[in-house]
Amino acid sequence: MAEDGIQDLVTGAQARFDFAGKMGVGQGRPGQRLDGAIPGLPASVPPVRLPVPDLPAPGWPQPQREYTRPDYSERFRCISSACEDTCCQGWGVPIDQGTFEKYRSHELLKPHIGTLIQLNANGPTTSDYARMPLTVNGTCGFLDPQKLCEIHKTLGPGMLSVTCSTYPRAVSTHAEVVEKALNLSCPEAARLTLLMPDLLGDGLGQARGAGRYRTVIEAGNRILRREEARLAVREFALIMLRDRRYPVWQRLYLLGNLTRRLQSMAEQAGCGTAAAWCEANPAAVSHLLADSAATAASGRLQPVMDRMEAKPGEQLVLVIDLVRQRVTEPPIPGRFLECVQEFEAGLGCSSGKGEAAILGAYAESYERYYKPFTDRHPHLIENYMLNHVFKNNYPFGRATTVKTASEPNAEDEHLALCAHVAMVQTLLIGVAGRHQEAFATGHAVKLVSSLAKTVEHSRKFQEQIAGFLAERKLNNAQGIALLTMPPAPSRESWRDSAGHTGGGRLGSAMEA
Ligand code: SF4
Repeated sequence: MAEDGIQDLVTGAQARFDFAGKMGVGQGRPGQRLDGAIPGLPASVPPVRLPVPDLPAPGWPQPQREYTRPDYSERFRCISSACEDTCCQGWGVPIDQGTFEKYRSHELLKPHIGTLIQLNANGPTTSDYARMPLTVNGTCGFLDPQKLCEIHKTLGPGMLSVTCSTYPRAVSTHAEVVEKALNLSCPEAARLTLLMPDLLGDGLGQARGAGRYRTVIEAGNRILRREEARLAVREFALIMLRDRRYPVWQRLYLLGNLTRRLQSMAEQAGCGTAAAWCEANPAAVSHLLADSAATAASGRLQPVMDRMEAKPGEQLVLVIDLVRQRVTEPPIPGRFLECVQEFEAGLGCSSGKGEAAILGAYAESYERYYKPFTDRHPHLIENYMLNHVFKNNYPFGRATTVKTASEPNAEDEHLALCAHVAMVQTLLIGVAGRHQEAFATGHAVKLVSSLAKTVEHSRKFQEQIAGFLAERKLNNAQGIALLTMPPAPSRESWRDSAGHTGGGRLGSAMEA
């Protein structure tokens, strides 16, 4: 089968995948049904409808499917004294309840309870029961002058907390398999993750064409086992996020359609969460994925996305506001503040330039420095997203032992991914403007790792993201496009989008 054709996949005809085919909405190709279904799709792949019959009786023969696991974390090695950062610099390390109890009863450590080890003031949870507050130097109080951990050195690795003994690995269990993704706040973990051209070792990043969706569509004919349903959703996300026929923002736009449908089906069915709905309705999941795969393979939504326009003025204001929201609450790692300064220098945000000039610099930096860089390293942002998927149990959310006001929400999880990509992309465009031709992977690693330490280690900020987007009515498809679509090449469109007045909204992110 030709990798860049869909004929084998859905039509059996000679129609090549016409990615820029500009099918008029409502016109369709000869033979294409106007309900959006793809001609030639097996009749057994109907549109998703509820209710769907549940699993057959146990013992029903089920095909075994292989699911992608994040094996890349096995290659991680701490570089210790050669590291440009230190794990416990600028991060109040969380201590789990079990470790806290050990510390409370240990002769050498109990005198430090209440000072170097404090109960989590925001509500102790099993995994985040206490914190190591930062010293005036912004480090953990148990770090010695040689940047070695006193607890490890004196009492051995058995006395380390779960976080300290596993970091930067992010450990979780899926279908009874333990997985380890990486926290990109560690510069070495970020380097390893972002710079590996084939992170998942399956060559899919380089593969082109719609053949990648074939297994998903074929699986639409089969009933997934209960425990497979969530992994199948994740597998589809891993395929979609690496479909280089679509720019990154369009992959996120398309994936947003899936998470929206998942969430709304969960709510219609009264399941509470998308994860619960998937487990209860594996057949519907496989049909939904087949439908989403057919949409992605056919390019059916391409005309809709082609008509959307970038709004870089609004995008820049949003990202700066989001960053401001975080930097008003110290501690903020110094390496991240350096990146923000580079971003501002690259765009002229803090030099009194008017909005039109700042937006001109933004578009120019994108076109001249950022885009050529990502063309050379297309896996960089992809790998960032893939690791996010594994680390955050996307789109279902991480399991938490604390009772929160709201249940995990697949739409919010997707918006969080989009917000993180928007921050990385926008800040990198500014940093690229600062370094111009010298902009390189080292700058990207520094930005991603310091941003991760700043925003991903703050549970409060992670919880604020959904509210931030909802308040601005961006919790929808237009919001995803606004956040993630890069600046338009045409200067006129962004000039109009922001007006010509100077100053104001695009000032320094550190002015708060
Ligand atoms: S941040 Fe990463 S590489 Fe640096 S010391 Fe910590 S674990 Fe090692």
